[in-house]
Amino acid sequence: MYYIGIDLGGTTIGGALADESGTLLETKLIPTNMPRPAEAICADIAALCISICSSAGISFDEVGAVGVGSPGVIHDGIVERATHLQFENVPLAGILEGMLHKKIYLLNDGNAAAYGEFVAGAGKGLTSLLMLTIGTGIGGGMIIDGKIYSGFNGASAEMGHLVIDASGRPCRCGKRGCFERYCSAGALIDDTKTAMRENPESLMWELCGGDLDAVDGHTPFDAAEKGDPAAANVVDNFMKYLSIGVSNLVSLMQPQVLCIGGGISARGDAITIPLNRYVTAQSYIHDADRRTKILAGKLANLAGVIGAAMYAKEEFLAESGS
Ligand SMILES: [Zn+2]
Repeated sequence: MYYIGIDLGGTTIGGALADESGTLLETKLIPTNMPRPAEAICADIAALCISICSSAGISFDEVGAVGVGSPGVIHDGIVERATHLQFENVPLAGILEGMLHKKIYLLNDGNAAAYGEFVAGAGKGLTSLLMLTIGTGIGGGMIIDGKIYSGFNGASAEMGHLVIDASGRPCRCGKRGCFERYCSAGALIDDTKTAMRENPESLMWELCGGDLDAVDGHTPFDAAEKGDPAAANVVDNFMKYLSIGVSNLVSLMQPQVLCIGGGISARGDAITIPLNRYVTAQSYIHDADRRTKILAGKLANLAGVIGAAMYAKEEFLAESGS
């Protein structure tokens, strides 16, 4: 039996076919083409599922179930709200089941990525993991005793709106000082541009070819590694707030691994070494083996599709009693 995992995003929809061990046989990526109605997006997801199977040379009948990771609060197969997709109470699982005649399991995208890293990446072989995905915003997911924990109402993954500075920057959610206003890739890019405007001599200008639109999350890290003081200041500030947020999350959950995902996690040691140092200094656990380890994700942008496929497998097998 095979399982399909879908990672539904505001810009792209990823799909993958996995065997029972979580090994991927085929992956595909299509544009989400927003704005458009949920039914049109579902029709593309259904076509993607069929196309992945035919590319892999298997029949769709050999697929046990499909897992779909979607942004937003998920409850009983319904996306209650996902702003980037303009979804409001969309019965995504039901619509797709009608199109594909296959069992569909819906979960939050942050939870899907966390489950992927837990099953096949940074948390393989463990029982608890907390994932923080640094993207346009900040998402995340928690695995406790091998199971996704999404709160009694399905709304627990909103780590981006933990307040880390009560009198800080205003956030779109209405509060001040939210984690993602300092530590999302979007915030990092904004802070980089501000530093560049204030420092016309900064090496960051050269790295982005004099074009502010070419700045990405790697620009300040690359320039700081080459000794640029303005870039080092941006990175230090980003790491300071990231350390506060991560330390709060570790204090709450004490997972075996806290996994950092998203494009910036590719910086590896430049992020994880200072984070481990900060969290260790704050920790009241003296035995190093019993402290949370902070690691970069191992599955990059495939964590979500692998997690969705493996979640579908677990739920499907549990429901069919095998
Ligand atoms: Zn907020």
